[in-house]
Amino acid sequence: MLNINKLNVFVENKEILKDFSLNIKDGEIHALMGPNGIGKSTICRCLLKDPNYTIKSGEIIYNNHNLSTLSTTEISRLGIMMISQNPIAIEGVTNAEMLRLALSERTKEHIDIFKFSKEAKSICQKLSMPESFLHRDINSGMSGGERKKNELLHVWMLKPSFLILDEVDSGLDVDALKIVANSLKEYQETTNCSILLITHNTKLLDVLKPDYVHILKNKTIVKTGDASLANYIEKSGFNEVSGEKTQERTA
Ligand code: ADP
Ligand code: MG
Repeated sequence: MLNINKLNVFVENKEILKDFSLNIKDGEIHALMGPNGIGKSTICRCLLKDPNYTIKSGEIIYNNHNLSTLSTTEISRLGIMMISQNPIAIEGVTNAEMLRLALSERTKEHIDIFKFSKEAKSICQKLSMPESFLHRDINSGMSGGERKKNELLHVWMLKPSFLILDEVDSGLDVDALKIVANSLKEYQETTNCSILLITHNTKLLDVLKPDYVHILKNKTIVKTGDASLANYIEKSGFNEVSGEKTQERTA
């Protein structure tokens, strides 16, 4: 269970989020939508304590842990993981090396290399990804779409309980989008993880079927609805949604 309570966030002395609150229960999928540059990625980065984002007040609690007291590593150990808008490449560390180390850190057990290799290869197959990617440096030399699939490989191997998907559809061609969307759906159904989904992609929304859709505007959530709100936005745009209308419609 994640509770974000009245968060005020500044980036380079500019207030981006004000009184931002959001609760996500175990197993729920919440989509956060809003115009470009409004603060969607900002909230994702606050959850993982990116030092570029300053939380001036408010709190984030995940399963009774106050995230402001934890480091990014400790937060990730709680099972929170993000596929970012632009996954970075890490030269000199292969996927397999990172995943084996991360898994043994998490389980505090010796990782059986044969079991690990079998599982990783079967995930590559599921994602239509060459097995050779396991031995490539993390995201290095990979296209935008390949990076997203590679991050999904990390998800399946490390099994987060809370997944942040920041425009995971960007850079994916139609076939890759189908694979990624279906794989995320399967992952969510298998593990009952919670998802914070940032996207404007109706295909991804159709597959993942969020329980709630929130509209971020004027530094806070101005409207919450079910999946049909995303269709309304698709037709009418964000200008039609305002704080006042929210109160009318949700009253
Ligand atoms: P969104 O994801 O909704 O498109 P962001 O959360 O990325 O928007 O950005 C919100 C605002 O904060 C934008 O005006 C953006 O330019 C600014 N911003 C975000 N990150 C930084 C940063 N590291 N340095 C300076 N400004 C930033
Ligand atoms: Mg963004």
